[in-house]
Amino acid sequence: MTYFPLTKEQEEWRDRAADIAAKELAPRAEETDRLGRYPQESLDALKREGLFGLRVSKEHGGVGADMVTTSLVIEELAKKCPSTCMCYKMHLEAAEIICQIPTDYQVEKFVKPMAKGEVFTTIAGSETWGEGDNWTAAQTASAVTKVPGGYQLDGIRKSYVTSAGHATHFQFHCRVGEDSPQSAASRLFVAADEIDWEILEPWNGLGMRGNSSSPVKFSGFVPEENRLGEEHTVGAATTHFARPVVALTYAAAYLGIASGAYELAMEEMVRRHPSGARRLDNAMNQRRMAEMGTQIEGARALLLSASSSFDQDRASSHLLYMQAKVACSEAGVRVTQDLMTSFGGAAFAGRMPFERYFRDARAGMVMGMANDLAYQNMIPLMFPEN
Ligand SMILES: Cc1cc2nc3c(=O)[nH]c(=O)nc-3n(C[C@H](O)[C@H](O)[C@H](O)COP(=O)(O)OP(=O)(O)OC[C@H]3O[C@@H](n4cnc5c(N)ncnc54)[C@H](O)[C@@H]3O)c2cc1C
Repeated sequence: MTYFPLTKEQEEWRDRAADIAAKELAPRAEETDRLGRYPQESLDALKREGLFGLRVSKEHGGVGADMVTTSLVIEELAKKCPSTCMCYKMHLEAAEIICQIPTDYQVEKFVKPMAKGEVFTTIAGSETWGEGDNWTAAQTASAVTKVPGGYQLDGIRKSYVTSAGHATHFQFHCRVGEDSPQSAASRLFVAADEIDWEILEPWNGLGMRGNSSSPVKFSGFVPEENRLGEEHTVGAATTHFARPVVALTYAAAYLGIASGAYELAMEEMVRRHPSGARRLDNAMNQRRMAEMGTQIEGARALLLSASSSFDQDRASSHLLYMQAKVACSEAGVRVTQDLMTSFGGAAFAGRMPFERYFRDARAGMVMGMANDLAYQNMIPLMFPEN
């Protein structure tokens, strides 16, 4: 049951996603994690089900899902395989601008093919951890050179590119020209088979092990027609809708880690062991289950309220989107941490799947807008006069 009121269509999409996740994602989740293998078969199933075009408008052949539906679908997928869901979530995030404000050229070249499952994309954004330990305290985008008809990329290194080696397209963050400030970045939509790229090292993360989130170096020419929105407009009004979608899709994925692990715990807690005991008979476990359930419902209520607010264009700032992201990712971390305690040695020894959810949940604290940064960014919105 979901406390937030859903339409019949939203409920149907949630149930359909749950069904796909149970049949197609769950059986491969353990192996995906253990082998650190890219979940291609699971993503192929999402493609067959038409989910690559979830946010493509009906007019262009897609589902045209609203944000509430999108959040519901993502949560259900993450419950069964967070790695698959994160690759899929990055696709939706990367596709959002081209789905909402495409040029006529982009509709034919990218958007309609996406609705048919022929375009699967990702974000090539982060450059925060590069060669030679060049960490910076602020988000950085390297400069591309403007040349006749487009842009030239000269060996630009992106530090984490989910679906590296598998995505057909990248949403590429850059500055146009060395003089362009970091606050005026641009976005290009880059076809993987029309540019040179090189994976610099294999992905071997603590969690999200199936994500292939490797560092990638990009070189080559990108035509001007592939630019998303105007130059220098990352953060500008024309693309202001993209950031909430980034935050809310993260929130839904990390909520799914919390609720997926919790649903498994609901079954395990009442299982009667040969000794006759059940874990739920323990008062401490009762308290934990009640507390975790409350955290999950609170996070979900915030996520769906924020998603609905986005759909209806009711929000006066991005505050609630950031709050939804941190609330859901922290629910993921807290719930999986408590389950590691409740299920003791069996969880720690990896005999139960909780440790996989626990490792996957950790990524939520640092991905996208890292939670610490999100909290800092909330303050000017909460204290606008100061
Ligand atoms: C599994 C995974 C997949 C990813 N996939 C992609 C992808 O597909 N595309 C992509 O572009 N990126 C991707 N990323 C990168 C991700 O978005 C970055 O990890 C994120 O932007 C944070 O950058 P960082 O890791 O360099 O953290 P750092 O900048 O090193 O930050 C570390 C910590 O320092 C603190 N901190 C840093 N800066 C600030 C600040 N300004 N204010 C307050 N606190 C601060 C925070 O506590 C933060 O958690 C992925 C990351 C992971 C883990």
